[in-house]
Amino acid sequence: MSFADLNLIPELQRAVADEGYTEPTPIQAKAIPAVLERRDIMGCAQTGTGKTAGFTLPMLQLLAPYANSSPSPARHPVRTLILTPTRELAAQVSDSVRTYGKHLKLRSTVVYGGVDMTPQTKALREGVDILIATPGRLLDHVQQKSVSLGQVEILILDEADRMLDMGFLPDIRRIMALIPTQRQSLLFSATFSEDIKKLANQLLRNPLLIEVARRNAPADLVEHQVYETPAASKRALLAHLIRSREMKQVLVFLRMKKDCNKLARELERDGINAAAIHSDRTQAERELALADFKDGRTTALVATDIAARGIDIAELPFVINYELPYTPEDYVHRIGRTGRAGLPGEAISLVSPDEERLLIEIEKLLKRPIPRKTPDNFDLDRGREQRPRRETRNEAPRREAQAAPRPASQPHAPPRAPAQAKPQRAGDGFDFSKPYQPSTAAGAAMQKPPAIRGRTHRPAAALLGGLAFKDKK
Ligand code: AMP
Repeated sequence: MSFADLNLIPELQRAVADEGYTEPTPIQAKAIPAVLERRDIMGCAQTGTGKTAGFTLPMLQLLAPYANSSPSPARHPVRTLILTPTRELAAQVSDSVRTYGKHLKLRSTVVYGGVDMTPQTKALREGVDILIATPGRLLDHVQQKSVSLGQVEILILDEADRMLDMGFLPDIRRIMALIPTQRQSLLFSATFSEDIKKLANQLLRNPLLIEVARRNAPADLVEHQVYETPAASKRALLAHLIRSREMKQVLVFLRMKKDCNKLARELERDGINAAAIHSDRTQAERELALADFKDGRTTALVATDIAARGIDIAELPFVINYELPYTPEDYVHRIGRTGRAGLPGEAISLVSPDEERLLIEIEKLLKRPIPRKTPDNFDLDRGREQRPRRETRNEAPRREAQAAPRPASQPHAPPRAPAQAKPQRAGDGFDFSKPYQPSTAAGAAMQKPPAIRGRTHRPAAALLGGLAFKDKK
C-alpha cells in the first residue's frame, strides 16, 4: 500500500516522500481513511508506531480547504487543537505538523509551560489554524484571552493516559467546555485502562477503535530464552547458535564498547559475517555497518545498548544478549528491537553464573520466568560443538529429570511457564503475579558493580524516555 492509495492530496504525498516514507505504517493505514471520513478515533498506540503522522496527515487534509495566506487573524481561527501531556511531546508533534504541512498554507504554533508566555501570546494573536498545547498553559492563554477555541473542529488528545497520570483531567474538562460539541475527536493512548475508557466515552462519538502492536515493550510475540553457560563457553556457543539455527540477521548485545570489536572479529574468524557498532565509531562508519546489516550483508551486528538506540529494523528476528545488561530496563529496550510490527522474534540470553542475579531482576520486570534451554550438539563445559550422537538408553530419563521444574524454594512460586520452559524459578522469592517492584538490595548492588565505573543505576523513567543517558567515553 502507498500513501497515494490512501487518497492523500498531492501536497501531503510530497511531504511524506520528502521524509523518505514509502508506505504507511499499520496505524497510518487504518487511521488516515477513518479520519478523512470524519470518524472519531480511539487509537491504542505508542510512540514509535508512526501515530503522529497517522493523525496529522488526515487532519491537515481536512483543513487544507481553509489554507490561505491572508495576514488577517480572523482568517486563521484555531480549527485543530492537539493536547499533549508534556512540552517535549508538544514540541515533537509541532515539528511533525510543520514537516507534513510544509506545502500547505496553514499556520500552526505550540504553547507549553515553563517558558515565557509573550512570544506564544504574539503567535496566538496573529492567528493559528492548528494549535498544539499542554493543558495548563493553554488555559493560561485562554484566561488572558489570547486565544479563542470556539471554532475548533478537530480535537486530538495524544498520550491521553499520561495526561490522566499527570492529573490533567480537570484541565481537560475545562478545555472541553470551551470547544464546540460538534467536532471530530481523536484520542490516542498507549494503554487502555478503565479511566481512559471513561474519558473516551465522554469525548468520542461512536469511535473507531484502532490498536497496533507496541514496539518498545516486551512484545507478546517475542519468545524469551536463556542458555545457562560458563562464561568461557559463550563465544563458541554464540557462533554455534547462529550457525545451527541458521540465523541470517542477529543483533548481539554487549555491555562495553571495547568488547564489541573483539567479539565481531572472533565471529568473523568463526566464519560468520559480523560487524561492530558503538559510539566510538564515526557516524559514517555506523551508518555503513547498519546499512550492511539491514541489507543482509552482515549476519551479526554487535552493539552496545547506547549504540543500538537508533537502530530501527522492521523485521529483526533475533536479538542475542551475549551479556545481560546491568539494569532490567535495558533488557526491555534490547528485546524491543525484535518482535515488532506483528512479526515474531526471539530474544536469546547467554547467562553465565555471575549473571544469575541480573536474570532474576529481568524476570521480575517481565513478571514471568524465562524458559531455560540447552543447546543441541554443544558441550557447554568444554565450549565446543559436538557431533550429534545417538541417545543411549540411560540418557532419556536423565533428560526428563533435567527438564522437570525446579522446586520452588519460597511460598510465592511463579506460575508455570509455557511448555518449552524448564525450571520454574522463584528467584529470590519474588511473586511474579505482582506488579514491578524495585530491585532488592542485592539486585541493586549487582547493578552497580565496580567494573562499570561512573555508570549510575537508571530508574524505570529512563525507559519512558524521561531521563537522558550518555555513553561513557
Ligand atoms: P511516531 O510514532 O509518530 O512518534 O513516529 C515514529 C517515527 O516513525 C518518526 O521518526 C517518524 O518520522 C517515523 N515514521 C512515521 N511514519 C513513517 C512511515 N510511513 N515510514 C517510515 N517512517 C515513518
